[in-house]
Amino acid sequence: MRIDLHTHSRASDGTQSPEELVHAAVAAGIDVLGITDHDSAEGWAAASAAAERTGLQLVRGMEISTRHDGHGVHLLAYLPDPTHPELVSELDQVLEGRSSRVPAMVARLRSLDIDITEDDVRRASGHSAAAGRPHVADALVTLGVVADRDEAFARFLDRGRPAHANRYASPLRTMIRVVAEAGGVTVIAHPWGRHGQERPDEAALAELAALGLAGIEVDHQDHGPRSRDKLRAIARNLGLVATGSSDHHGAGKVDHELGCNTTDPEQYAALLTRIDAAAAASSRTAPLVINRENNL
Ligand code: AMP
Ligand code: FE
Ligand code: FE
Ligand code: ZN
Repeated sequence: MRIDLHTHSRASDGTQSPEELVHAAVAAGIDVLGITDHDSAEGWAAASAAAERTGLQLVRGMEISTRHDGHGVHLLAYLPDPTHPELVSELDQVLEGRSSRVPAMVARLRSLDIDITEDDVRRASGHSAAAGRPHVADALVTLGVVADRDEAFARFLDRGRPAHANRYASPLRTMIRVVAEAGGVTVIAHPWGRHGQERPDEAALAELAALGLAGIEVDHQDHGPRSRDKLRAIARNLGLVATGSSDHHGAGKVDHELGCNTTDPEQYAALLTRIDAAAAASSRTAPLVINRENNL
């Protein structure tokens, strides 16, 4: 059984529609797919309809931009009620921060004599609920300034590069609580992946586990073999679920093909147990994992 719990569609910064993502997962031999667009459930309905047509087991989720002790942390939230008021209000703030950052990035690029406009970015982010640097990168590709997203990040958009701009992110501890109150479960995405440091460390993860964190994403392209070993041991020590996933973005990210990392079926079963408990604790009745009876 092949389980890939972290992927993106055009509802955020992937390059496939939610339907295309579902069909690509079926073609890649994936049995269980998590759709986890940035900060939005916008792709859920279309992905669910496609999953129902194909029989693919679908876990609806999102990857929420949070801050913890001054650092950015991506938090995967599986199956929260997307209409929960406090969740909606936090995500609105994140999405507002994303939108208001676009003019700042455009102004910085223009000051570098690059003739880019907000409209260029809007054309690139047209299908997305969560405007982001990848869309600025796509606009730069269209303008012929760079060859691909990678070059755009390396030259202009990464932290420390001249067109980088900060934006709002939700406090991590708050978001772990809010997702639980919305009947969902949380898993930290690529915890050691983005800065190459072993942070949050085991003590910090223990505190987050006590707050309700359900798991950590261990197998991810941004983690080398040593990080994976250490994170797997930490997950075991703390009773956290250890997931693995591709972080697929369609053609938007090289070396992140569907199924390039997968989640062990036993770990997925443990995650489902946490998902059931979270839904019961919040007394949700909405349908949860789609086609859960399939491929077990
Ligand atoms: P943002 O959401 O605007 O903060 O931009 C971060 C997103 O950009 C991440 O979710 C990644 O998917 C994407 N990203 C970061 N670095 C690169 C890169 N070098 N090439 C392509 N996409 C990237
Ligand atoms: Fe992304
Ligand atoms: Fe991420
Ligand atoms: Zn991601």
